[in-house]
Amino acid sequence: YACDRIRNFSIIAHIDHGKSTLADRLLELTGTIQTVSKGASTQQFLDKLKVERERGITVKAQTASMFHAHEGQEYLLNLIDTPGHVDFSWEVSRSMSACQGALLLVDATQGVQAQSLSVFHAARERGLTIIPVLNKIDLPAAQPERITAQMEAIFGIQPSEVLPISAKTGQGVRDVLRAIVERIPSPEGRPDDKLKAFLFDSSYDRYRGVISLVSIQSGILRKGDRIASSHTKKKYEVTELGIMHPEEVPTNDLHSGQVGYIACNMKQSSEAHIGDTLHRVGEVIEPMTGFQPAKAMVFAGIYPIDSNDFPKLEESIKRLTLTDRSVTVQRESSTALGQGNRLGFLGSLHMDVFRQRLEDEYDANVIITAPTVPFKVIYKDRTVLVSNPTDFPDVADSTSKVREIQEPIVKASIIVPEVYVGDMMELCFSHRAEELDYRYLDTSGASSSRVILTCVIPLSEIVSDFFDKLKSRSSGFASFDYEAAGYKRSDLVKMMFLLNNKPVDALALIIHRSAEQSVGRLWAKKLHKVIPRQLFEVPIQAVVGKKVVARETLSAMRADVTAGLYGGHYERKMKHLENQKESKRKMKRIGSVDLPQEAFFDILRTK
Ligand code: GDP
Ligand code: MG
Repeated sequence: YACDRIRNFSIIAHIDHGKSTLADRLLELTGTIQTVSKGASTQQFLDKLKVERERGITVKAQTASMFHAHEGQEYLLNLIDTPGHVDFSWEVSRSMSACQGALLLVDATQGVQAQSLSVFHAARERGLTIIPVLNKIDLPAAQPERITAQMEAIFGIQPSEVLPISAKTGQGVRDVLRAIVERIPSPEGRPDDKLKAFLFDSSYDRYRGVISLVSIQSGILRKGDRIASSHTKKKYEVTELGIMHPEEVPTNDLHSGQVGYIACNMKQSSEAHIGDTLHRVGEVIEPMTGFQPAKAMVFAGIYPIDSNDFPKLEESIKRLTLTDRSVTVQRESSTALGQGNRLGFLGSLHMDVFRQRLEDEYDANVIITAPTVPFKVIYKDRTVLVSNPTDFPDVADSTSKVREIQEPIVKASIIVPEVYVGDMMELCFSHRAEELDYRYLDTSGASSSRVILTCVIPLSEIVSDFFDKLKSRSSGFASFDYEAAGYKRSDLVKMMFLLNNKPVDALALIIHRSAEQSVGRLWAKKLHKVIPRQLFEVPIQAVVGKKVVARETLSAMRADVTAGLYGGHYERKMKHLENQKESKRKMKRIGSVDLPQEAFFDILRTK
C-alpha cells in the first residue's frame, strides 16, 4: 500500500456515546468481521476484556486494520480504538500519536460532555483532522439541530461538516467511511528513509513473548530485520510481523504509514517502552518526541484477606500488570495486614477496574487500603514524594524539619444542566475547590441549558467518592473531567487510629487539617461497628500528632462461647471449638486486640 492509500484514525468521544458500536459497524461494513446477529446483544468486538463488557467501558486501546474500496481504489484504514474515561486519557493520548485524524463522536441525545471537550482538545493539539459525527439520531430523544449548534458554539465546527449517523442501525455510516478517505490526510510517506517504528502499545503472549503495536513513521520493517530500541539500546530480531485484521494476520513487511504488530524475542514486557522508537541496528536516528509517559497518581496497598494467600495474590497481580503497563507495583508490608503490594494507578476508576480484574483473576476478595496521591514533603535540603501514609512525617511535631507540604491539584470541569449548578458548587466547595467559575454552553436560555463549571481542586479530594457524589447529586446528568495542574502548598496532617493505644498502620490517612474532626469521628464510628468485642474494654482513638480528635469505646464481652450450648451435645460443642480455632488462624493481633482480617475488608470497603 502506497501511503496515499492509507488512513490512520481513531474514534474519540465521551463514554457511552457509541465508539465501540461505531467501530463494530465500520469493521462490518468493510467486511473485516462478519455480522453475528443484528440484535442488541451483539458482542462488541473491540471490547475484549470481561470487565469492559460488564462495565461497558473500553479499558485498553485496540487496533484494527480494514480494507475499503473507494471510487475504484482500495484503501487501508487503520482504526485505533480509544478508551473512554478520564483516568485513561494517557491511553487516549498514546493511541492518537499514531493517527492523522479522529472521528469526534457526540451523542445526539446527550450533547457535548466533559470528555468530549478534553478529547477534542487533545486531538486538536496534535494537529489531527477532526471529523465531527453526531450519533444516535435513531432515538426519539435525539436533538440533531440543537446539538449541532452546540458543537458549532463550543468547537467552532461548521454544521455542514457534521455527519448525522446511527451506529446502531448503520444509518449514515457509509458517509463516515467516505469522509475518512476524503478528509483525513494520508500519513507522510518516507519509505526510502531510515526505519523509525513508533511503539504505542504492547501485550504479552506466552509463546512469542512481547507483542508490540507499532506505527511505521519512515522506512520499511521486514521479517528478520535486526532492530534496536532508542530507549534501552537493546537489540532484537523481528521474528513475526503483520497487521491486525482484526486479529493478527502475518505479512512480509510493514511500510511507512502502516500500523501493525511485531514479535521480536522481547522476553519481558518491561522492555517494551510505550513511546519508544525502534530503528535498524547500526543506523542513527532521531527518536520521536512529544510523548508523555503515564504517571501513577493514585496509590493503594493491596493485601490478601488470608495472609497465607500472598504468593498467589502477588502472582495474579504480576500477570495482570503484563496486560496493563500503566500500573506500578512495589512490595510493602504492614503489621496489621502482613505482606502486600503497593500499586500505583492513573486514577480511581483505573484502580476500581484493576481491582475487579484482580478479583476475577485471583478468584477472591482483596483488601485495598484508602487511596492516596503523591504528596511533596519539602525539607530544608531536599524534596521527597510520599504516596504512603506510613512514610508521611508527623508534621504536628514541633521538632519536625519539614518546611512545607504540597499536594497535587487538578483543573476540573463539570458539565451539568443548569438546575444542578447550585448543588455542584456546594459539592466542589466541600472538597476544597477554588477559583470556581461557570459559563453557559447553550445560547438558547432554556431551562435545560447546560453549564460548564470549572475549578481547581486537590486531587486527593476526588480520588475516593467524589465521582459517585457528583453522579448522585446531579441525578446522573453531570459529566466530569480533569487535568493535572501542578502542586500547591497545603496544611495536611497524618491521622492515625489507635486500638487500645496501639496504632494500626494500615488505617493511617493523610487529610486536610480542616477535616480532622469530621473524618476522625466518622472512622472511629466505623471501627466501633466493625471490630468484634474483646475480653476487655478497647478504646478506639483517632489521633493527629499527639492530639486525640475522636474516641469511641468498645465494651468488653464474655469469653466462653460454648456457655450457651447445653450439655450432651458433644458433637456440636466440638464443632464450635473447631470453628473458633479456624477463625483464630486468620486473626490479626494489634497490641492485645484480636482482629479478623475480614474486619479490614469491611472497614476499607464501606464508604
Ligand atoms: P462507548 O462507550 O463510546 O464505546 O459506547 P458504546 O458503543 O458501548 O455504546 C453505548 C451504548 O449506546 C450501547 O448500549 C449502545 O448499544 C448504544 N448505542 C450506540 N450507538 C447507538 C445508536 O446509534 N443508536 C442507539 N439507539 N443506541 C446506540
Ligand atoms: Mg466502548
